[in-house]
Amino acid sequence: MKKLLAGLAKLSGFRDRRDMNFGLIKLILGSDLGDFYSVKLLCAVGPLNDQHWLTLAHVSKQQTQPQRDQIWLDIGSLPALRTHPLREAAIVTESIQQSELGQGSFLSVFPINTQASVCSVLEVETAQAIDVCGREAIDSILLLYENLQALLDYGEKDSLTELLNRKTFDSAFWRAAQTKPPPLMSDQAERRTQSAQAAYWLAVLDIDHFKRVNDSFGHLIGDEVLLLLARKMRTSFRFDDQLYRFGGEEFVVLMHCADHGQAQATLERFRQQIAEHEFPQVKHITICIGFTPLDLNDTPSGAFDRADKAVYYAKEHGRNQVCSYAELVESGALEASVNQDDEVDFF
Ligand code: GH3
Ligand code: MG
Ligand code: MG
Repeated sequence: MKKLLAGLAKLSGFRDRRDMNFGLIKLILGSDLGDFYSVKLLCAVGPLNDQHWLTLAHVSKQQTQPQRDQIWLDIGSLPALRTHPLREAAIVTESIQQSELGQGSFLSVFPINTQASVCSVLEVETAQAIDVCGREAIDSILLLYENLQALLDYGEKDSLTELLNRKTFDSAFWRAAQTKPPPLMSDQAERRTQSAQAAYWLAVLDIDHFKRVNDSFGHLIGDEVLLLLARKMRTSFRFDDQLYRFGGEEFVVLMHCADHGQAQATLERFRQQIAEHEFPQVKHITICIGFTPLDLNDTPSGAFDRADKAVYYAKEHGRNQVCSYAELVESGALEASVNQDDEVDFF
């Protein structure tokens, strides 16, 4: 009991979602609410008609150091939703599901209600079926976890679009900038340039002539365009890309891409989707996008500035386009910015 309370107190102190996820599963594994072999926290990711299970945190008796799926895993390589009927049933019925695995092992799946659009479950393997008392206690811990997640959402999300707000950008940036890229295939390795070595890319998106939308249709319709654009971002970018509204009609994407070509193609596809989409009343809008890879010595403001310069260039050269800061510098269209150490900063 004392240990459980101490674990709960610790859980409420986490401000980082990964730390909180790890804290939750360690707390349950170490509790006496069941005889646990393993505890797993999972969420369903991918387009609605093709969802897969991503492991957010996993501990076991043998492996008490929490593990999670690599963020740049190909979604297709994760187990499909239907391959785990017990998890699916927990989500659909919103109730705990238990099954005997045989050889003295039981599986229990608890549904978790973090956000309306995200389905998560806690899956535990135990030596005996968890009794009513244990189940109720785990349910209460999960309710606390849901409430803590909602508090984090409240502080981190923009109230109109529910994208991340600017406040959380810096810490996500530092984590991304220090992430090493995954190994490339041999044919890619030869073509690897300095920019191709980046694991993460930063893009700034700005709606063209948005003031005209407000002036012609009013602020409320303008807000609706912002909301719809944010929704399109959510469906167009990958589940693990971090999407921000930095204020007004300016959005930021921090995304993992293999190389410059992939970053450019992803952004170009989104620009085109927006240009072709028919918004209610306003009909058509366009956006400008500027992008840059992150490097190890980067700062949030340095990288943002580079992408923003590329946006500015796009605005000055016809709008409705994607511009790469690196290409603009290479071609001489932009001067390379100089970072704090007075080193020329091409990428
Ligand atoms: P450009 O193509 O050069 O980006 O032109 P623009 O009109 O989009 O850019 P500008 O910076 O001149 O104007 C941005 C406008 O965005 C001004 C303001 O009315 C509008 N805006 C900022 N925040 C909000 C918001 O929360 N809701 C709505 N509806 N409009 C906003
Ligand atoms: Mg604008
Ligand atoms: Mg703007």
